[in-house]
Amino acid sequence: MPSQVSIHPALDGGVKAGQANFSGGTLVCACTDRPVKVAITGGIAHNHACGCTKCWKPQGATFSVVAVTAHENVKVLENGDKLAIVDPDALIRRHACKECGVHMYGPVERDHAFKGLDFIHPERFQESGWPEPTFAAFVSSIIESGTPPSTMASVRSRLKELRLEPYDCLNPPLMDAIATWVAKKAGTLRE
Ligand SMILES: [Zn+2]
Ligand SMILES: [Zn+2]
Repeated sequence: MPSQVSIHPALDGGVKAGQANFSGGTLVCACTDRPVKVAITGGIAHNHACGCTKCWKPQGATFSVVAVTAHENVKVLENGDKLAIVDPDALIRRHACKECGVHMYGPVERDHAFKGLDFIHPERFQESGWPEPTFAAFVSSIIESGTPPSTMASVRSRLKELRLEPYDCLNPPLMDAIATWVAKKAGTLRE
């Protein structure tokens, strides 16, 4: 029964299409008192559902909803004193609210194909209209957070039903971008 499988509370009722002209907004954490607010002054890209164990997910979600924006688009507006870096050694330096746990932004500062991008969770925008997720990444990883392997077929079939093509790493355009960056750095590939 694929429709019984929960992916994420914001997606389970169907993936709501966003607006192509979405140009940012304000991300707000889940605190009722002194919420952290982060301005995103630009568009977001590569929005997807992610099954990895590192992304922030709301209560009851099997997948996160995560996208990227350019680092220069990100500015902490309010209550930045509540932010702490989850794991300073991780590629993505996720800045989370110490009180509610929501990850607000995660820059990639290391030499990497994603350097200069920040990972954000569009569901935390107080505005609607953000571009919808278009694929699911790291699907097999949900087993690491407790999903029984026997249910994976229904999870993948539900993702397909939601038009979130399931991949067990990132999607082909992003995997190609990473490999291209590595090949150029190694000198194997020249433009
Ligand atoms: Zn908070
Ligand atoms: Zn993830």
